[in-house]
Amino acid sequence: MQNHLTNTTALSDGKIEQIKSGLTHDDEILLSLYGKREKVYPREVHGIFAFLRVLAAIGLLGIFYGLPWLQWDGRQSVLLDLPARKFYIFGLTFWPQDFLYLTFLLMLAALGLFFFTALAGRVWCGYACPQTVWTEVFLWIEHMIEGTRIQKMRLDKSLLTLRKFRIKATKHALWILFAAFTGFTFVSYFTPAKILVDELVNFQLGPWETFWIVFYGFATYGNAGWMREQVCIHMCPYGRFQNAMFDDNTLIVSYDEKRGEPRGPRKPSSDHRRQGLGRQGLGDCINCTLCVQVCPTGIDIRNGLQYECIACSACIDVCNDVMDKMGYPKGLIRYTTQNALQGKQTRIIRPRIIIYGVILTGIISIFIYSLSQRIPAGLDVIRDRNQLYRETAGLIEKCLYTENFEYG
Ligand code: SF4
Ligand code: SF4
Repeated sequence: MQNHLTNTTALSDGKIEQIKSGLTHDDEILLSLYGKREKVYPREVHGIFAFLRVLAAIGLLGIFYGLPWLQWDGRQSVLLDLPARKFYIFGLTFWPQDFLYLTFLLMLAALGLFFFTALAGRVWCGYACPQTVWTEVFLWIEHMIEGTRIQKMRLDKSLLTLRKFRIKATKHALWILFAAFTGFTFVSYFTPAKILVDELVNFQLGPWETFWIVFYGFATYGNAGWMREQVCIHMCPYGRFQNAMFDDNTLIVSYDEKRGEPRGPRKPSSDHRRQGLGRQGLGDCINCTLCVQVCPTGIDIRNGLQYECIACSACIDVCNDVMDKMGYPKGLIRYTTQNALQGKQTRIIRPRIIIYGVILTGIISIFIYSLSQRIPAGLDVIRDRNQLYRETAGLIEKCLYTENFEYG
């Protein structure tokens, strides 16, 4: 028998394993690197982690879209004025010679990522990464226009009718509008938002401003509307090297295999421990596959930790609901550690956490101290407007001129 497995780039490891398990040693497997993407239709989910994700999205998007409109000392609170080479951040003004602080910030970002990843896995990916946050908004718009997961799947499979065209056109129009607003907001960190609005309504946007608005708008539309989980799975380097930062005490979203297996359907009122093949009893997983349906990257968490998992916790929320309805304890899928799953002791505070924490605290302290001790100095050299030379009786006289220095 010959089996050709194509489209594997779109298949999860779990699905591949399932297919492989049905093959014999003599079977030939052809894996294609250029398979067509299998579209993921994440089901809507409610619960404590979904609420936290919405809260994080509102907070982060509120800051991003709100800051350009916040005034501080008569100017925009955060403005990166490239032509004047001045970077305003609330009460502080940075000059090119303050580049050192950017180095501090980059070091803080890198160390913060190491620290939080070692402690709590991919919390950044699940709650704060721009790709996740914007994708949530685009999915929300899609949900408003196209309806539930099943309705979306039916619509995509159906032939093109006037109704389908209208629904798709409305969704894309809203996506493009939101993406353009995002591009506009991004550029307003470099050109004051009020000036940018004036230029926009009077059709006086400069070529560079227009280019960057379109560029960032297009990037948002493409990444959050079309590519979604593909960015996390195939483009994001962090998803690939996170394994190096994990250890057996890192908090991860995990399925409790010991408790859940063997999985299988059963009646809510039945004693599932007495059912199943060979009467060895069923585990707590009723195999409803809801955890797979809500997953934004389309994986099955029951196959173990996978690099595609962005730790969004949607599967925890939905499984807890199922456990509630079945009358079982919550937490079949939960935040836990490899050690805890193997019945070993978990040590949250461990040497690498302490080392990262100490370095992080040290850099933050130096950063704050250095900022508080900073004496900003600006120097404007203005050429005198008087004559520099004059001719008198065959002589050339040099005029005195002044240099103005301003310290701020
Ligand atoms: S949601 Fe829970 S019960 Fe349902 S398939 Fe997933 S792990 Fe099993
Ligand atoms: S497996 Fe669970 S936590 Fe991981 S991405 Fe899917 S839904 Fe989110």
